[in-house]
Amino acid sequence: MLHPLQHRQQKNGLTNGLTNGNGKSINGNGNGAGSESAPVMEAQTNGASTSPSNRTSGASTPSKRGTKSPFTHEDPIEALLTRNEHWSSHISQKYPELFPSLASTQKPQILWFGCSDSRVPETTILNLLPGEVFVHRNIANCLPPNDLSSLSVLQYAVEVLQVKHIIVCGHYGCGGVAAACSQKKLGLIDVWLKNIRDVRSRHLKELEAIEDPEQRIRRLVELNTKAQVHSVLHNSNVIDAIRERGLKVHGFVYDVANGKIRRLEVPDDHAMGVFDLK
Ligand SMILES: [Zn+2]
Repeated sequence: MLHPLQHRQQKNGLTNGLTNGNGKSINGNGNGAGSESAPVMEAQTNGASTSPSNRTSGASTPSKRGTKSPFTHEDPIEALLTRNEHWSSHISQKYPELFPSLASTQKPQILWFGCSDSRVPETTILNLLPGEVFVHRNIANCLPPNDLSSLSVLQYAVEVLQVKHIIVCGHYGCGGVAAACSQKKLGLIDVWLKNIRDVRSRHLKELEAIEDPEQRIRRLVELNTKAQVHSVLHNSNVIDAIRERGLKVHGFVYDVANGKIRRLEVPDDHAMGVFDLK
C-alpha cells in the first residue's frame, strides 16, 4: 500500500513554492504557483484513491466517537483509551500496512511549525495520518534563533528526514499574539512573548493605524508568521537544502473560526544573502 500522501503526491504533486508578492518563487525550485487564498495541499481535494471523505472518516472515526465528550465520562482517561482502541482498529482495517511500515521508519515530507493551541492540531486540519508530518509546536509558533528545541527539530527534519516542505502556520485567535499586544506583565512567559513583541515593534506604525483591536491582533498574527518564515529561511541548513535539493518554505495562517488555511505571501528578504554561509 502506498502511503496516502505519497499516493496523492504522485498524482497531483506538492510543488508550490514560497512566493513573493509577484507570485514568483523565492526559494529555489518552486514553480511560483502560490496563491494568497489557495488552500493547503490541493491534492487532497483532487482525490486519488484516498478521498477526503474517506480520510475524514478514517482519521476521526466519527461513528465511534459519538457526540459525547470523553470529559463528561466518569473516567475520562479510560474513555480516551477506549477511543484509541477504536481509532487504531479502524485505521488498521483501512490501511493494513500503515502501522507495520511506521514501526520501522518514518518518511514525512512536511515539517510543521505551529502553535500549541488545542484548536490547531496539524494532523487533523491537514487531514493526514500518522507518519506524514514532523511537528514542532510552541506558543505562537515562534522560531527564535537561540531556541535549541526548535532548532534541533529543524536540523533533524532537514538533514536526516530530508523533508521537502517546511510550513510555518500561525492562526487567528492566537492567545500568545494577543498577550504580546497587551501592556500587561505576565511573568516568565514575557521572555517568550518578546519574540512577538519584537515583530510588533518593527511594525508598530502599521499596527497602530488599525483601529479595531481584533483586526490589529489578526494582522500581527500574519506579520509574526511571516517573520518566523524568514527565521527559517535564515537557517544555514535550510539555505543549503533550498539550493541543493529544492526544499520549500511556506507561511500559512489558519482560522479557528472556520477551519480553513490560507497561504501567506512572504515578500522576498533581500538581506538573506548575509545568512548564506559557505
Ligand atoms: Zn496560538
